[in-house]
Amino acid sequence: MIGKHDWKAILAAALLSVVLSAGSAGQAFRITPVRPMAELRAEARKATPPVEPGPFATARLVELTRADSSIHLDIRYATSQNFLGEAVYEQARAFLVVPSAEALIRVSGKLHRKGYGLLVYDAYRPWYVTKIFWEAVPADKREFVADPAQGSNHNRGCAVDLTLYERKTGAAVAMPSGYDEMTPRAYSDYAGASTEEKEHRAILREAMESEGFVPMANEWWHYDYKDCRKYAILNVPFERFRDPLQADGGVTMPKVLKHVAPEYSKEAREKHIEGTLILSLVVDADGVPGDIRVRRGLGCGLDEEAIQAVKQWRFEPGKKDGKPVAVSVQIELHFHSM
Ligand SMILES: [Zn+2]
Repeated sequence: MIGKHDWKAILAAALLSVVLSAGSAGQAFRITPVRPMAELRAEARKATPPVEPGPFATARLVELTRADSSIHLDIRYATSQNFLGEAVYEQARAFLVVPSAEALIRVSGKLHRKGYGLLVYDAYRPWYVTKIFWEAVPADKREFVADPAQGSNHNRGCAVDLTLYERKTGAAVAMPSGYDEMTPRAYSDYAGASTEEKEHRAILREAMESEGFVPMANEWWHYDYKDCRKYAILNVPFERFRDPLQADGGVTMPKVLKHVAPEYSKEAREKHIEGTLILSLVVDADGVPGDIRVRRGLGCGLDEEAIQAVKQWRFEPGKKDGKPVAVSVQIELHFHSM
């Protein structure tokens, strides 16, 4: 039996279920889409994935953060911080099919002992998104995107793009290139990186390979799990999977209507501070945030900047039995220094 006040505690315990990306020191690697994005999106949603001969293994997709809460997300395709400069996912979520998800959780455990965690950029990707990427990039950059006629292992829920974060600080480690950077620095054998960057790349690779993941030659962040061709290409958008924002006890989590990105403080910029800042707050029945507290700070002025920004956010309030109610939530803000 859930008491009158207990559901709030349950929601608060459903830690990190609101994951938003905001605040950036600079620009992600960008291409200029060859045609307008709205046109590409509409076309891709109408297109049909290639027909492949089966039979296929049953694909049970697991939401990674639910299976292992130490796995952090930085789903760039749900934000404008990606190579297209526009969000292509409606939700920041990451899924893999069962055997690969289990293997990734083992990788995560192995890395903990070395002081690292996994930061996932992308995992299962509905086929229409692969189609958008292919149609958007100029011909000379197509080696970095999958051909929709073949489908990508991401479409099969069998590939993951990821990096490491430091458990102590929550900050992403230095790697030889940014995510989705379409240059030779992205190659997994690129030798021009710093010793530290190469070391991080090697730690990730060793842990991933030890559990059956196969690296990709031209993207250090991309790994395929074995036997991906067993799984069919899927075209199910994230919104069709049970919404994690639908909390237990019949209370829905608030949704962000308006978000203001925090400023990147001068001091943090100079020191190249990166990482995940966590705030807790209460979203009242009018969708206004209050009682904003820093749960995990990054210092260097970023905590204050984050509070100032989140004060200006507005939400669609959480609801219980269809009525707006105050709900406590946690928000992750990812700061990147690029
Ligand atoms: Zn990938």
